[in-house]
Amino acid sequence: MKDLDWGNLGFAYQKTDYRFVARYKDGAWDEGRLTTDESITMNESACVLQYAQTCFEGLKAYRTKDGHIVCFRPDLNAARMADSCRRMIMPVFPEDKFVDAVVQTVRANADWVPPFGSGATLYVRPFMFGADPILGVKPANEFEFRIFCTPVGPYFKGGVKPLTVRISDYDRAAPRGTGHIKAGLNYAMSLYAIVDAHEQGYDENMYPDAGTRTYLEETGGANILLITKDGKVVTPKSDSILPSITRRSLMFVAKEYLGLEVEERKVRIDELDQFAECGLCGTAAVISPVGKIVDHGREICYGMDKMGPITEKLYKTLVGIQMGEIEAPEGWIKRID
Ligand SMILES: *Cc1c(COP(=O)(O)O)cnc(C)c1O
Repeated sequence: MKDLDWGNLGFAYQKTDYRFVARYKDGAWDEGRLTTDESITMNESACVLQYAQTCFEGLKAYRTKDGHIVCFRPDLNAARMADSCRRMIMPVFPEDKFVDAVVQTVRANADWVPPFGSGATLYVRPFMFGADPILGVKPANEFEFRIFCTPVGPYFKGGVKPLTVRISDYDRAAPRGTGHIKAGLNYAMSLYAIVDAHEQGYDENMYPDAGTRTYLEETGGANILLITKDGKVVTPKSDSILPSITRRSLMFVAKEYLGLEVEERKVRIDELDQFAECGLCGTAAVISPVGKIVDHGREICYGMDKMGPITEKLYKTLVGIQMGEIEAPEGWIKRID
């Protein structure tokens, strides 16, 4: 194992030993291979550079209590990336080969997988881009699929701090646009809003539906969970929300492990004060509690001192399943070694 200060790593890129690269040319993917070269050389008019033809995924590898290296539900990342590719007119990298490439990449970088109990994980980033030169607006002909990984520190360093978020005046995803896929372009257009939010003292933006600005969708990079005062778990429903694997897993855990009622439905921004707890969910944090939502001067407070009790139960159960301390549903944990 590498000698790193695992508990103090941030969420930042660090070069590891190997990455996976496959190339699509003349209508077919090559077998792909591991390489030590982290740099990409491409033509100045590559489709990704001019027209942002790219999509990505994100998942974690980590060590379980009994010492195995595992990934959490990589088959769902494979399926979601296939959806992203189809929407971006990019060739799907076959789902079974995607999972196999994740396994190969993590295995080759096993020394970089943090020890159990450190709170750190190996973040795995698959991505694809249109690589050959084009000028007229059309999809590329050649594509590269890559996976790199980088160790990242515990999300809640120095304890859990509930977030203060605002209802954004900017939009994240158009109705019938690309909000439901993991395209880099969704992030490009959110950069202005997140920098502005930070300048104004907020941790995150919550985006309303762009069509009517009435319903809650998600933040720039995490889905939203709400807990009603009588303990039901609610998540917003919309075609322009990115289907978070963490959120889908938490909804399953709520129902099947904790016996809670769950509901995916439209959530109006003006009913947010009817809920008891709120959290943001995604691979990085699993759940981060929201302490306060500011909607143009109207403040909705869920509590700034700690995670809500049901949010905490959900968090602990899912993390327990991931770490091998609670029995996982069939197929959720992919053993790497
Ligand atoms: C990646 C992402 C999420 C979280 O998805 P997970 O699969 O749980 O990591 C949520 N919202 C957006 C916009 C995302 O890009």
